[in-house]
Amino acid sequence: MAFDIEMIKAVYERMPARVEAARKLVGRPLTLTEKILYSHLWEGTPTQTFERGKSYVDFAPDRVAMQDATAQMALLQFMQAGRPKVAVPSTVHCDHLIEAKVSSATDLAVAVDKNKEVYDFLSSVSDKYGIGFWKAGAGIIHQVVIENYAFPGGMMIGTDSHTVNAGGLGMIAIGVGGADACDVMAGLAWELKFPKLIGVKLTGKLNGWTSAKDVILKVAGILTVKGGTGAVVEYFGEGVTSMSATGKGTIANMGAEIGATTSTFGYDESMARYLAATGRADVAELANGIKEYLTADPEVYADPATYFDQVIEIDLDTLEPHLNGPFTPDLATPISQMKELAEKNGWPTKVEVGLIGSCTNSSYEDISRAASLAKQVAAKGLKTKAEYTITPGSEQVRYTIERDGFIDTFESIGGKVFSNACGPCIGQWARAGAEKGEKNTIVHSFNRNFAKRADGNPNTYAFVASPELVTALAIAGDLTFNPLTDYLTNEAGEQVKLDPPKGDELPTKGFAVEDAGYQAPAEDGSSVVVKVSPTSDRLQLLEPFTPWEGTDLKGLKLLIKAKGKCTTDHISMAGPWLKYRGHLDNISNNMLIGALNYFNEKTDKVKNQLTGEYGPVPATQRAYKAAGIGSIVVGDQNYGEGSSREHAAMEPRHLGVRAVLVKSFARIHETNLKKQGMLALTFANEADYDKIQENDSIDINGLADFAPGKPLEIVLNHEDGSSDTIVANHSYNDQQIEWFKAGGALNIIRASVGK
Ligand code: SF4
Repeated sequence: MAFDIEMIKAVYERMPARVEAARKLVGRPLTLTEKILYSHLWEGTPTQTFERGKSYVDFAPDRVAMQDATAQMALLQFMQAGRPKVAVPSTVHCDHLIEAKVSSATDLAVAVDKNKEVYDFLSSVSDKYGIGFWKAGAGIIHQVVIENYAFPGGMMIGTDSHTVNAGGLGMIAIGVGGADACDVMAGLAWELKFPKLIGVKLTGKLNGWTSAKDVILKVAGILTVKGGTGAVVEYFGEGVTSMSATGKGTIANMGAEIGATTSTFGYDESMARYLAATGRADVAELANGIKEYLTADPEVYADPATYFDQVIEIDLDTLEPHLNGPFTPDLATPISQMKELAEKNGWPTKVEVGLIGSCTNSSYEDISRAASLAKQVAAKGLKTKAEYTITPGSEQVRYTIERDGFIDTFESIGGKVFSNACGPCIGQWARAGAEKGEKNTIVHSFNRNFAKRADGNPNTYAFVASPELVTALAIAGDLTFNPLTDYLTNEAGEQVKLDPPKGDELPTKGFAVEDAGYQAPAEDGSSVVVKVSPTSDRLQLLEPFTPWEGTDLKGLKLLIKAKGKCTTDHISMAGPWLKYRGHLDNISNNMLIGALNYFNEKTDKVKNQLTGEYGPVPATQRAYKAAGIGSIVVGDQNYGEGSSREHAAMEPRHLGVRAVLVKSFARIHETNLKKQGMLALTFANEADYDKIQENDSIDINGLADFAPGKPLEIVLNHEDGSSDTIVANHSYNDQQIEWFKAGGALNIIRASVGK
């Protein structure tokens, strides 16, 4: 679909010389990650080496992808940049705003009507600035990208944390905020701290009930939700080459759940097969021509401990199917232990709904393997106990699996096919009865399972598993059912056992689609008019943020001291709020409403220091803003984990929060805060978190000498007149300090084109 073969040719032509230059400079064999990174330097052929986990490096990504919920803000920012066209191939994908309720066709029609204003905006901006536009119903961004645009050895960024999915096809693909996308589309360098490298060696071969999903569920259990922070995970070993490209995509996709910058795999035959099956045999041919550059040097995988910062080894021969959850994707339980753990923890064991598909797991292989289990329901005289839903990742997948009879198979066991969209994965699931808040269990093949994520019910216990295991558990209706060992009682009262799933890596009759849902941009978009109504409640043109006033920040009120997990879902909730993603002022009414107030253990209830009364976080902050008083947000570990949504940084910026001070940050969120001109600070001494009191007024000193590596001083002025002086670290480099001073990175881009 208009993938840019010339661009790929250019990447492959320059890659060998750049890799050779890097190898000479570094003075040792290179990992695949290093080869891709060093061949995408903004400076061109490498002239220097970089220190992992330390050096900030300017890169030149090959592509940008944006999903509709984040594209609105990314493109509103791009419109401010004053450029006539995007500088690199870019695409927009309409996938997040479609609710899953009745059926695919009905839900899509409702979404097209309800989101018309937003879709028209995205379509016209795309048309004007040369961006490929994938309409609602075309599919989920990451599935569409891997089917059409991802290529081995390439580098892309996307305004969604699961952009990393394209690592399955050997890319370095990284989730970013819209401001980063805006930079790259405006033709500027994109900056990233040179990552650390984690090597994962897969020995053995997937077999029986185990699938690629179980690899990443196991890795998540080992590394936890922040174990991959600041690192690229590179997979290798015989277990990798025997796995499908889409299986690799699933693993790469959920690299986001361990906080990894991205994950990647060396080019192999599975990738060549997938490229050919998706109409890109020419890309495979080009890749074959430089294949030694599209994988690590042989010495690296022979002696990984020397070349990676950390090495993990997993034996696929003995890997068990896993169920991760509830409420966090790193709570990994092998299926054989679920019975015991569910009992011990009081998890509800009746499975109410099994949901398969999403960007994580809707490959042809996934669907065909799940269908092989669904077929056994009738063959073995069973009845499916739980509800069952299928969310295809793209129209191409949906059309092909319909042609091959899988949709009929799923419907025969009561399955409901939702639109080719995010739907239940992002809280866009109008699940009947969810509002009652009853304790219940669901199992799904998506990637995230934070509280409320799927249906808005905080008491829904969501477990993540492979589509095969989800299907088996939906058939059994029981979380503790182990299909490897357990029997089911069929309608005739007989004991039957499910056969292990079987499927095809790729459709034997090839992929097919009638209308993939792609709209190419105008050749010359200069006359295209982008309309944004000033009275719209969904879209709002942006105003530049004000620059730093040049003084230390004094008397900031503590807005909230967030306790425990505070993800981007807690900071800027999705679900019903998705519709305001293009309207900064309106969406700011969800700011931090999911964060737990340390002082009263309640959400969305904080003390207004001006009145002494407790109220919602956004309203309290608006009161400070109206009074011309700045504020500060305090947080715990891994603050801002989860999605790349920059709303989580723009909302506090818009409402007048000046700084976020936490024990540690998730990478994308930290960058997003910096881009928007906020202060993103960390406690030099984590125990100082305990010194923050509810009625504190806080000073941030040392900004006149704000410099890389130089801590800032924070004075906590307590209500009783006492004070504590603590030290805050930061990771700003010179460029980022300029963003802070200018009031945001965009103000610098605007200035560069004289706007
Ligand atoms: Fe959509 Fe879920 Fe994939 Fe995000 S993770 S792109 S919400 S399907």
